Amino acid sequence: LSERLEGAFKNLKGEARISELNIANTVKDIRRALLDADVNYKIAKEFTDRVKEKATGEKVINAISPGQLMVKIVQDELTELMGGVEAQFDISAKPTIILVAGLQGSGKTTFCGKLANYLKTKKGKSPLLVAGDIYRPAAIDQLQVLGEQIGVEVFSERENKNAVSIAENALKYAKEKAKNVIIIDTAGRLAVDEMMMEEVANIKQAAKPNEILFVVDSMTGQDAVNTAKAFNDRLDFTGVVLTKLDGDTRGGAALTIKYTVQKPIKFVSSGEKLDTLDVFYPGRMAQRILGMGDITSLVEKAQEQYDEEKAKRLEKKIRKNQFDFQDFMEQLQQIKKMGNLKDIMGMIPGVGKAIKDVDISDDAFKGVEAIISSMTPFERANPDSIDASRRNRIAKGAGKQLHEVNAFMKQFEQMRQMMKGMSKMPMGMMGGMGAM
Ligand code: GDP
Ligand code: MG
Repeated sequence: LSERLEGAFKNLKGEARISELNIANTVKDIRRALLDADVNYKIAKEFTDRVKEKATGEKVINAISPGQLMVKIVQDELTELMGGVEAQFDISAKPTIILVAGLQGSGKTTFCGKLANYLKTKKGKSPLLVAGDIYRPAAIDQLQVLGEQIGVEVFSERENKNAVSIAENALKYAKEKAKNVIIIDTAGRLAVDEMMMEEVANIKQAAKPNEILFVVDSMTGQDAVNTAKAFNDRLDFTGVVLTKLDGDTRGGAALTIKYTVQKPIKFVSSGEKLDTLDVFYPGRMAQRILGMGDITSLVEKAQEQYDEEKAKRLEKKIRKNQFDFQDFMEQLQQIKKMGNLKDIMGMIPGVGKAIKDVDISDDAFKGVEAIISSMTPFERANPDSIDASRRNRIAKGAGKQLHEVNAFMKQFEQMRQMMKGMSKMPMGMMGGMGAM
């Protein structure tokens, strides 16, 4: 019997699904939230289609509310969209050469400082920073200041107007000084520009970097994605660094970039302090995006609506005396989800004291569930159809005596009448009282 029950439970659990209509609405809202967060339309659509597919197919486990499940599906998909697990950042080469590129103001120079600090303090490396931005004298000063703050040497040649030869000289210098990581900062422009691209491409060719990191300001939204594409076409970079995540950014860029250029985000950086560089974890970013409230609260709202709709439908059925075994089973599940039966009964005014010494075990439900599980869907929906021969079959299937089934049928009928009379009461409670 216990095996049969288990089987029945499996089926039952499958019935507690979020409705299709509900999913469709929620998904539409999620799509809107993504678009608001600067996620590209095509990606948002593909994403929500996937969520919809999963949510529709997935069965809701007793312990998890449909809303929570939906949030989990969304979170998993977000994580997947951003690469699933964190990307490798390989610093095993001796020396490891890292080229840093991106638009002006994206945060390259600041990132170089943060990365050098990270590799020095967290990875025990001995880095050399290379001032490859030759167009503004202030750029060299900026890197010098950063280097001093973190105690990392900066290589610069103020008279040299050729970034490629500076990079080459820096590599020679690093070898002499036994530096095992070389971070080359480069010049950016305000927009994608051929001269800049060519210069960086030439440095790449000369320095043969192990990592080419593209730095992008996460506050620039869709532009960030276009820029990433342009740089990737030219440089075939190995990873992305998202900066300025401390602002009011909504993560749209993070979602879209990985998908568009098929390159992982490796670091995120927020704030101007040099110790705030973080390895990028897709799961955490997904949480961050969800944590912004939008999606989670959308899903919660949908869940409330769903419960309300369901309650209304049920109330209507009760009024018309159409409450059936399927509804009954759903009510039982609801109650079980709420916790211990006796505690729930105890919350009803006046009941608590009365049942203080009565032994109400949750097992009391089991017999009832076994009987309903043995009914066909048709029988569950049409209690009046259950005649003597059907009762016999149900009793056998449930491992019960015929008189037990008869008694339950009688109780059920009484309960229906009673419920009809008091259909103003909250739904969850009714099923429970009926069961008693
Ligand atoms: P570059 O032109 O690409 O080298 O960009 P910089 O590193 O000079 O940064 C441009 C401006 O952005 C500077 O004022 C930085 O202090 C600031 N900045 C860089 N990274 C971040 C960050 O992660 N958060 C914030 N709030 N500001 C940043
Ligand atoms: Mg700079």
